[in-house]
Amino acid sequence: MTKSRQVLFASRPAAMPTAANFRIEEVEVPEPGPGEVLVRNVYMSVDPYMRGRMREGRSYAQPWEVGRPADGRAVGVVVRSGDPRLAPGDRVASMLGWREHYVARGETLNKLDPAVPLSAYLGVLGIPGFTGWYGLKEIGKPKAGETLVVSGAAGATGSVVVQIGKILGCRVVGTAGTEAKCAWLTKELGADAAINYRTAGDLYEALRRACPNGIDVYFENVGGPMLDAVLRQINPLARIPLCGMISQYNFEVPEPGPRYLFSMIGNRALMQGFIISDHMPRYPEFLAEVGGWLKAGRIKYEETIVEGIDRAVTAFLGLFQGDNTGKMVVRLGPEPA
Ligand code: NDP
Repeated sequence: MTKSRQVLFASRPAAMPTAANFRIEEVEVPEPGPGEVLVRNVYMSVDPYMRGRMREGRSYAQPWEVGRPADGRAVGVVVRSGDPRLAPGDRVASMLGWREHYVARGETLNKLDPAVPLSAYLGVLGIPGFTGWYGLKEIGKPKAGETLVVSGAAGATGSVVVQIGKILGCRVVGTAGTEAKCAWLTKELGADAAINYRTAGDLYEALRRACPNGIDVYFENVGGPMLDAVLRQINPLARIPLCGMISQYNFEVPEPGPRYLFSMIGNRALMQGFIISDHMPRYPEFLAEVGGWLKAGRIKYEETIVEGIDRAVTAFLGLFQGDNTGKMVVRLGPEPA
């Protein structure tokens, strides 16, 4: 038996979740049987979409059950194995985050390349990076010389979109919630301009100054007033991949809007939502392309690492306050040798 702590989903929140919606418990994890492996999680992901899983009812992701452990993506290392395909020391990805150890059938886990830093599989080379790559290329379809606006630009997904936009030859404008994030976008990631949406005042005017030729592609991560301001200055045939709307996730009733949708008619614009899990067959293609850019130093990444399962809830709640630059991850234990 191995002692393990895990985070239980304790109650459904109204509006902004708090620590009271979660509880930590210690459990004994059994030895792995035939075909099973015991895994020690090293990093777990906290993601904005988990806010949706705190709600009851139908959604694209299964709601968390009250009184049961929360779950989500995690990467770890095999401790003991009853599966001949996995050996102690192998690195694996699972959907069994929010716990320190677990036993699972070997075939439900993905074996990871030990040459890649483990945490990168949760961010730049994981779902957020893949989401940015897919949404930008397949829906945004940016062309060299066009103007791309990215909201939530200093986050896990947005920071990848900004850099791919530059690689593809766009003028890239990012929006984020602090001066430090804006400086990172322009000085490190190569964005042509960055707007601090919290201090910019009139968002329409701030975007107009940063996008003198209008907006051809808007990669949407936040929704609300930013979407309104963008819609008023899109160009003919603009494309808007709807990736997320984090500004709305904690409202019981979403804000009214957007108010300028009619701009899409005259401009023959396209707005399309997508859910990345529908596109997993494209993951190897993403890994080859973005992994290649990463190796070549053309893509950079940042992580905000919060230590310990005791602080996992704090990390999750921090996503809604902008506490992260790049990917927010929780380190649950030491890196494997
Ligand atoms: P991020 O790393 O971008 O973290 C969330 C960021 O959102 C924060 O750092 C914060 O940055 C910003 N934010 C929080 N509240 C607000 C607000 N009220 N208004 C504006 N910005 C806010 O998370 P991810 O990269 O994981 O996710 C980014 C978006 O992509 C989310 O909307 C998420 O739901 C979506 N997503 C969609 C997927 C899909 O399949 N469609 C898959 C993965 C993600 P700041 O300091 O700038 O405010």
